[in-house]
Amino acid sequence: MQNNLLLEGKIALVTGGGRGIGKAIALELAKNGADVIINYNGSEQRAMEVVKEIEGFGQKAYAYKCDVSDYSACEEMVAMILKEHSKVDILVNNAGITRDNLILRMTEKDYDDVLNINLKGAFNTIKHLSKNFLKLRGGKIINISSVSGVLGNAGQANYSASKAGLIGLTKSIARELSSRNVCVNAVAPGFVATEMTEALPEEAMAKAKESIPLGRIGEAKDIANAVVFLASDNANYITGQVICVDGGMAI
Ligand code: NAP
Repeated sequence: MQNNLLLEGKIALVTGGGRGIGKAIALELAKNGADVIINYNGSEQRAMEVVKEIEGFGQKAYAYKCDVSDYSACEEMVAMILKEHSKVDILVNNAGITRDNLILRMTEKDYDDVLNINLKGAFNTIKHLSKNFLKLRGGKIINISSVSGVLGNAGQANYSASKAGLIGLTKSIARELSSRNVCVNAVAPGFVATEMTEALPEEAMAKAKESIPLGRIGEAKDIANAVVFLASDNANYITGQVICVDGGMAI
């Protein structure tokens, strides 16, 4: 590995890092010199493949299974990570799900599952890593929100609420941890080609594309590039912000 990489010596934890946007974030952080801990829930094999890919270009990588919506399981995962790696410099809360439906048809379970994974999951990891960040007197927390949390979206009341909630969480924790030099920001992707969006009907995707000023669906790497910037010293004076990486959707 060459010297003077942006994130050399840093250890990052990426939730849901085994596939999709989380995988792209894990790979880009590692390419920029970070060692990466990948959290996964259902995708063990894919998480292990990401570990191998990262090791292939000279960084250390590890995978830990944990359902981020489970408070105690997160506590155990964080305790194990800190025991084995002593610190986490960069936390990326990426794990997320959708359970889309119009409010008339949305079940209580659809609502609770989305809020518990997307919003409480981020609370859980931040809560259990807060002492680590206070001790570090530095570090970066990056929460993956969504343009849906910024603009709202019909059929996504649960998801929009969780992603808007993440923005409130981001701003509050940014204020709380600022005296210890910890920067906390959110990235709000627009439409990105992953398994999450491939379930959408072709017609909905075409309509989505029309609403994107830059005229294309985003790639996972577009989101990862913003995360690398926010995780680096180049973003040391940025906290409590929401960076929309959406081809202009939220203009
Ligand atoms: P995806 O391909 O469906 O991947 C979802 C990821 O979340 C997987 O790695 C999955 O891990 C993880 N996950 C789900 N439930 C979990 C749990 N209980 N505990 C731990 N991990 C869990 O989705 P994506 O498109 O990459 O989305 C990644 C993030 O970007 C999400 O927060 C999403 O809301 C946000 N986002 C996506 C888009 C888009 O257009 N794709 C737009 C805006 C925002 P396992 O497979 O291991 O369970």
